[in-house]
Amino acid sequence: MKRQFLPALLALSLLPAFGTVTDLSGPAQAAAPQQRTQAPGFYRMMLGKVEITALLDGTHPFPVHEVMQGIGRAGADALLERSDLHAPVEGSINAFLVNTGDRLVLIDSGAGVLYGKDGGHLMANLRASGYAPEQVDEIYLTHLHRDHVGGVDAGGAMAFPNAVIRVNRRDSDFWLDPKNRASVPGYLGPMFDGAIDSLRTYVAAGRLKPFDGEARLLPEIDAIPGPGHTPGHTIYRIRSGGQTLLAWGDIVHVAAIQFPKPDATVKYDSDAASAERQREQMFAEAAKNGEWIAAAHISFPGIGHIRRDDGGYSWLPANYTTDLAPATR
Ligand SMILES: [Zn+2]
Ligand SMILES: [Zn+2]
Repeated sequence: MKRQFLPALLALSLLPAFGTVTDLSGPAQAAAPQQRTQAPGFYRMMLGKVEITALLDGTHPFPVHEVMQGIGRAGADALLERSDLHAPVEGSINAFLVNTGDRLVLIDSGAGVLYGKDGGHLMANLRASGYAPEQVDEIYLTHLHRDHVGGVDAGGAMAFPNAVIRVNRRDSDFWLDPKNRASVPGYLGPMFDGAIDSLRTYVAAGRLKPFDGEARLLPEIDAIPGPGHTPGHTIYRIRSGGQTLLAWGDIVHVAAIQFPKPDATVKYDSDAASAERQREQMFAEAAKNGEWIAAAHISFPGIGHIRRDDGGYSWLPANYTTDLAPATR
């Protein structure tokens, strides 16, 4: 008995010496406050000699049941379940900053103020990534929906004061002309206001320069028509050092549904049949050719590859790396 008691007595006698330790676990010590903020939303990769920076504008609860078409509620839920998701699915709003070495190009601009707190974070993330808006030479818009064009405006001034904006003429002709409002369902009406208001200062300054069809915008960047989601929806193809990246705008809205089932469309498509055809074609080509994809609404950073699976496709997110050493090719 004595032997067992001795250590306990020793421990008790030592307690006063550890008074500070006792204090640390006492009620006077406040818990560390939770931060509840995400890491800065930028992600960088090299494509040959071109630097690509994905910029997050925000995330936004996507009302899958109200927006997805051609799949049905049960079908959508079953596919979401396979990815451990439930409606509404938090969707990313991504844009991509491309530094060719000569020019700094922003592909899409996020929603600006048009999505409330869910958007408008692109500028902070652009600065966090090491750039300033004054450095952006050109902005290429995949289309003129609010979550792509809204970020060019800063309360009636140009958010990118030195930039020229490029967009397919079929989109600028359509969305900048209020007369076309009568030809679309009511829920697309705000898209006209968003495009007109966001681009007003650039139009007035002669800095909106539409292009037609397929166009070489820079030696490394081509515009490829991809109509359907909107009349002038465009894919920007960037090539350097034998690698290719396709910034494909709104080819996919909900990855968990549209990769396994590419014929699921969204009610915001101007021409759902053409949008579906574009998606099927893009998936097939990207799976075959192995191009990088940079997607506006796939979970940030929205950069990855596509693989063909039984009866559909799957998304392979880019492997994370901190190795951004200059390309030697
Ligand atoms: Zn869109
Ligand atoms: Zn979009």
